[in-house]
Amino acid sequence: MNTTRHLEPAPAAPTTLPGPQRPPAEALAMYTQKIYADPRTERSGARELLLAFAYALTVADVPASAIIKTASKALGRHPKTGRWRIKPLIAADLPRYAAPGSETYITGRCKAPRHRPYVPRDASAQQRHRAQSDDRNTERVCGTSATLHVTERDPATGWHTLHSYCTRHRAEAQRVEHQLAQQNAAAPEPVPNRGGLLPAHFKADWQQVYRWATASPRWTPPSWGISADEWPTPGQTPPPIARQRLRLIPAPTSVDPDTP
Ligand SMILES: [Zn+2]
Repeated sequence: MNTTRHLEPAPAAPTTLPGPQRPPAEALAMYTQKIYADPRTERSGARELLLAFAYALTVADVPASAIIKTASKALGRHPKTGRWRIKPLIAADLPRYAAPGSETYITGRCKAPRHRPYVPRDASAQQRHRAQSDDRNTERVCGTSATLHVTERDPATGWHTLHSYCTRHRAEAQRVEHQLAQQNAAAPEPVPNRGGLLPAHFKADWQQVYRWATASPRWTPPSWGISADEWPTPGQTPPPIARQRLRLIPAPTSVDPDTP
């Protein structure tokens, strides 16, 4: 069976590259060291993907047009689905902002102000005593399971903070929403907090590669930049971009690298 498929959209032409400036084994050692030294690669699970690219760029000794295909072969197929793993791994490195609740189910308790003390129903004297130190009483909040969430956007980072309310405090939620409207409208596009590690370690037309991996032909990078190195960390100076570690990887060619 011929599994070769053509890519969508029109493929980018591979670029001819200058030869590596170091012996391949030495270059691989350098990349590996830098990847392991970058704590973001461990947190995100991107380390394996980056190491596969480092291998393809150095000791694999393949033409530039075969780098993605070679990285794909190194990563192999998913043991259960049998699909090549490279696309989901690149998609997981898509530069993006993950807002609270976008990746996990939001659980929260209503933070509307409490006017009367919280006393558990049918409680024993001991339970009543314990309720005095309950945060519903110490913080004077409603504390009921929340189903309404009002987003507050940070004026500097655009990051979201959720304020949660129960259905009984819908009016309070609307009041806070109204109060935040102006600040939220003026907030910048959120600083990304996920992905962007491939562009931080290797040079390529990553927009094309991310579009290919996510099958999103219109995807564009965040305005803060495509590389995680470009994003400001609140309260910290951004890390310097070490240009010497960047080397060009061409975008996928007309042959799907998913099928090495
Ligand atoms: Zn409430």
